[in-house]
Amino acid sequence: GYHPVQIGDTFNRRYQVVSKLGWGYFSTVWLCVDLLGRRVAVKVLKSGAGFAQAGQDELTLLQCASGPVARHPSSQRIVQLLDEFKLAGVNGVMCLVLELLGPNLRSWQLCFGTPELFQPWVKQIVTQQVLQGLDYLHTQCKIIHTDIKPENILLCKEITVKIADLGSSCWVRSRPVSIAHWRFCWDLSMAHLLTSGVLPAWQAFELVTGDSLFEPKASESISLEEHIAQIMQLLGKIPPAVALSGKYSADYFSRRDLRRVGPLRLWSLYDVLVEKYHFLLEEASGFSDFLLGMLDYYPGRRATAAQCLRHPWL
Ligand code: ADP
Ligand code: MG
Repeated sequence: GYHPVQIGDTFNRRYQVVSKLGWGYFSTVWLCVDLLGRRVAVKVLKSGAGFAQAGQDELTLLQCASGPVARHPSSQRIVQLLDEFKLAGVNGVMCLVLELLGPNLRSWQLCFGTPELFQPWVKQIVTQQVLQGLDYLHTQCKIIHTDIKPENILLCKEITVKIADLGSSCWVRSRPVSIAHWRFCWDLSMAHLLTSGVLPAWQAFELVTGDSLFEPKASESISLEEHIAQIMQLLGKIPPAVALSGKYSADYFSRRDLRRVGPLRLWSLYDVLVEKYHFLLEEASGFSDFLLGMLDYYPGRRATAAQCLRHPWL
């Protein structure tokens, strides 16, 4: 359903396409020059019937995040909407004109050959920037982003970044029912992931170590259980109040144990950091404490973005 676009095309008699900036599940994004010579990014959403509403929703969310509350200083941590228009098509193709930003963090990592980024850099990104942006979305705009990952964090200049892609976001009051496009779309963990800092925890770990926090082999029938088993190996057994509270709990758990997975070898986050990634002890203790605050099994106890911002590790 990607809408065909050629270099040199002019959108809406105003934006001329210069080159392609990137793409995602929902869209392609183009570097364009407007009539005043100003460079912008135009996000052209897919044209299929199911995408018209998604485009409209992303526009409404972006208008909120760039709208009246946007005088808040942390609004600068979110990509700004400049204009919008529709291209002709059966369903009309939604186009969002965004401020032009730099490459996303994933391509930046790939560029440098090694996935690990400097720790001070990660602290900068995670603290003053991604967490600030998330806290702004949660508290000022009542928006849950739901799709924080390196592809959706864009560099601005030197070491500043902004959160982009509100295409999967939703309002706090309408908790998401399904999140099909996140790469670990396992319902057990997803239910608890959304409002807390869990996604930044994932991302911080990945940026510091170059590895995923959990790496279940995708698309195998065992993979959900394997994913839960990996979580339990790192964080300990899931308390029954949480493990047995799900709609499908009985399919996976008998009491606190997974039905089809043998005994687990516990390997705490602190030990993983020291033994596998050769962290100094003090640094391992600070970083694991920071991450564990976001990974509490009880959603109510899990650190919010605002609390993470005050953690001494940062
Ligand atoms: P999708 O909803 O399809 O995932 P995104 O909004 O994430 O679309 O955009 C896809 C990619 O396009 C991003 O990963 C990024 O590389 C690039 N991109 C998006 N917005 C901008 C922007 N404002 N400036 C520069 N590049 C952008
Ligand atoms: Mg994206």
